[in-house]
Parts: sequence; C-alpha cells; structure tokens
Amino acid sequence: MEPKILDRRKFYINGSWVDPREARDLHITNPSTEQICAVISNGSEDDVDCAVAAARSAFPSWSTTPVSERAGLLSRLLEIYLERSDEMASAISLEMGAPISLARKAQVPLGEANIRSSIDVLKSFSFERALNEHATNQQIIYEPVGVCGLITPWNWPISQVTLKVVPALGAGCAVILKPSEVAPLSSVLLAEMIHEVGFPAGVFNLVHGDGVGVGSGLSMHPDIDMVSFTGSTRAGVAVSKNAAETVKRVTLELGGKGANIIFSDADDEAVIRGVQHCFQNSGQSCNAPSRMLVERTIYEDALVTAGQVAEASVVDASVKEGKHIGPVASKVQHDKIQRLISVGIKQGGRLIAGGLGRPENHPVGFFVRPTIFADITPEMSIASEEIFGPVLVMMPFDTEEEAIEMANDTPYGLTNYIQTSDPNRAKRVARKLRSGMVVMNGEALDPSAPFGGYKQSGNGREGGVWGLEEFLEVKAVSGWRA
Ligand code: NAD
Repeated sequence: MEPKILDRRKFYINGSWVDPREARDLHITNPSTEQICAVISNGSEDDVDCAVAAARSAFPSWSTTPVSERAGLLSRLLEIYLERSDEMASAISLEMGAPISLARKAQVPLGEANIRSSIDVLKSFSFERALNEHATNQQIIYEPVGVCGLITPWNWPISQVTLKVVPALGAGCAVILKPSEVAPLSSVLLAEMIHEVGFPAGVFNLVHGDGVGVGSGLSMHPDIDMVSFTGSTRAGVAVSKNAAETVKRVTLELGGKGANIIFSDADDEAVIRGVQHCFQNSGQSCNAPSRMLVERTIYEDALVTAGQVAEASVVDASVKEGKHIGPVASKVQHDKIQRLISVGIKQGGRLIAGGLGRPENHPVGFFVRPTIFADITPEMSIASEEIFGPVLVMMPFDTEEEAIEMANDTPYGLTNYIQTSDPNRAKRVARKLRSGMVVMNGEALDPSAPFGGYKQSGNGREGGVWGLEEFLEVKAVSGWRA
C-alpha cells in the first residue's frame, strides 16, 4: 500500500488557514524510508508580505494587552500541548527521524519545559522598575520589540520553535514563524494549538518555505523589527547581512563543536555517557559533545570503551520503540556526513568504529553507522568542523592547560563538557572555556538557564529571563514622579 501523504500546503495567517498566493509544492521525506510523507508550500514574497501585514496590524493591541492575559493564553497553550503530545511526538518522529521513544521522552518534553519556563519567567518579570534606589524618578520600561521573524532548524524542531514563539508572544511581540522546510509538521501542529487557544488574529503567523526565499524575505523585510534565527553559521551570516540594511535586531543561535574533557579522575561512566550523548538524536544537536579529549593516562582504555559503546549502538527506523539511533534527517545531511567521514579517513583519522556507508541492515533510509575516530589532530578538518551526525572524534591531552587550549581551538563556543572528581579543577577549567555553556559531570543544565554561544556559535541567549529579554526593548524615562 502507498504511504499516506499529508497535505499541509496552507499557511496560518491572520488567524486562519489560507492557501499560498502561488502553488509551489515542497515535499517532505520520511528519513527512515526515503518516501514522501507530506507536502507543504514554498512561500513567496507575497505570502511573507501578507503575514507581516497581519502581524503589524495585530501588534498595537497585542503589545498593550495585560501581561497576565498573555500569560493566561500561553498557559492554555501548554494544556493543549500536553493533551496533544502524542500527536506532536509522531509529527517530529516522521519529519526528522527521531525514534518515536526519543520524540516522546525528550523532544516533546523539551518543548513542554520551554513553554512552562517561559510562562514562569513572564509572570515574575518586572516590566517597569526604577533605575535604582538612588534614582527612583528615573524609570526603566521594558517594551516588546515589535514584529519578529522567527527562523528555526529541524534537529529539535519543537524545542527551537517554542524557545522563540512563547517568549516572543509573552513579551507582546507579533510573530511570523518560518520553521525548517525539512521539519515543518510539528510547527503546523503548534499553529493548530495556537488557533485552538484563540490568540488574537495576526499575533502568530506561520509561513513555510526555504531559506533563500522566505528566510531571506523575512530577514530583509522593512516591516520586521527583529529576526530570531537558529541554524547553521553559514545561514546566520546571510541573515545578518540581509538584516543590516534595515538595522533589525538579529539574534543568532548557531552551530557547535563541543569538547568533552575527560580527566583521569572522572567517574567510571564518563566515557560511556559521553559517547551516548554524542550519538543522541543521531548526533544532530548543536550542543553535542562531539570532540572527546581524554587525559593520556586513560586514553587507550577510553578508546576501547568508546568503541564498545559504538558497536553496541543499534540503528533502526524511527517508528520503532526503543533506545536505538534513528536515521539522520535528510539526504543533504546524509551526504554531508559521508563526505566528512571520507575526509577524516583521507586526512589520517584512525577509525575505531563505524565508517562509510549505511549500516548492513539498512540499505534504505538516511542511516549512518555510529562512527568513532581516534588520534584526531587539530589540522584535520573533522577536529573543528561541525559534522552533525553520530560521529565522535577523540584525541589525547597531557595537561589541564593543553586540554583548555584544545577545547577552545574551534570557531565555535556553544557547549563544553568537563568530567573530573576534583571540584576545584572543574571550576578552574569552566571559567577558562570560551563557550556559553559548560556542563559538568553529566549534570544537565536547567531549562531556565541561558542557552547560547560565544564566537561563531552566535550572539543570543534563549531560555529563562534572557530568552524573554531578547524580545524586549528597554526605555529609560526621566522625571518619573508619583
Ligand atoms: P540551516 O542553517 O540550513 O537552516 C536553518 C533555518 O534557516 C531553516 O529554516 C532554513 O530554511 C533557514 N535558512 C537557510 N538559509 C537561510 C538564509 N540564507 N536566510 C534565512 N534563512 C535561511 O540549518 P539546519 O541544517 O536546519 O540546522 C542545523 C544547524 O543548526 C546546525 O549548524 C546546528 O548546530 C544549528 N543549531 C543551533 C542551535 C543553537 O541553539 N545554537 C540549535 C539547533 C541547531
């Protein structure tokens, strides 16, 4: 039987589902089967203009709606999100290939945590306050930035979308969301939920399309005040250039090449945990610990353990329940990973697990063999280039200073990891790492902590109070007397 193809050609503009101005289909592929599973429309300049006009006219009233009312609508959104969480998990699993168990246990809950945390921050945020206790007649007022274009990637699709949509709406901004054209189905579902809540028309708009068309259209649009972008560094640079002409606020959450520094006094699970974390979501996480730096005295043992973890990692279809690794999201991604594995081999990386080609049992689907390279040196491309697949590179170090230097030796600076049982060393190293986040000894960061990077990993911070402030202007007023 032919698989069902979902028709998701409509856009959500000004409170209703509308046809695109011009019929231009984009096909969505199921990464496990390589078959088309859905069709969306590739938006045009006219579609972007319509959505921006709707957001623009909704903004004056929405921006002055009491915060408690906005928080109330977002709380209702959270309830519907929870009611429809199974549908959300299926949409994510279908569009980008996350195994259904991972979609249920990690992808969907991360979206929930983002919505919940944004609402909490919104309720306690002080939108008006005195400058300080010595200048009580100087008032600081936080106001919504305006109309925002939100551009997101496919790897943790609903997490990235909720990290933007919820604080933006909470702040009082009106938005146009352009989710990844690889994984748009979860965003369609979120738009349905927003519709069900009954947000005022035009406050939230959804236009599908590719980066060159709708993405650039939003970045350049004269009636958009801000673009919040998550994706590759390459596209982030293009967004910044396109937005420069209209002096928009641009916030960028970009790529990463996280170092996981494992000292000889690390706990016994550190290597296993590091490999599994790198392979989670098929290695498609901007904050993946994709470079494992191991103190030389335990390096050979670590290679053996890492190889065993990779060999034991099962690769299978996304519809199957279980802890296996799914396919990567697209053919483009699969081809890129194969190319980088090949470059790694040519440049002298020592393969200790995996390698080129698909796993034996999966001739069809964008499956990748869980791969580990040992003895990687800084000149090799895979030491610093983001692979975005289940591919770990390992290298030894001798001293703490050398480990810090190696960890910082990349254009990126998103998340680094430290494994040691010496708390003083852990703090010393954490302070010297040039990254927006440092995760120590496997203890996850809280969803309300700021998420973002240094250097070419971007310039923004999402989550918590920082994620709300990104969507706010700050106004200083003098002569403010009771
Ligand atoms: P991508 O840059 O190809 O696409 C991301 C989004 O940008 C998509 O919606 C795409 O259509 C759009 N886009 C592409 N070119 C554009 C352009 N010229 N102008 C405007 N928009 C454009 O990235 P991807 O392959 O979807 O996602 C993977 C990348 O995202 C990785 O580099 C990953 O590290 C990064 N990422 C970063 C974070 C973070 O918070 N730092 C989180 C997740 C993913």
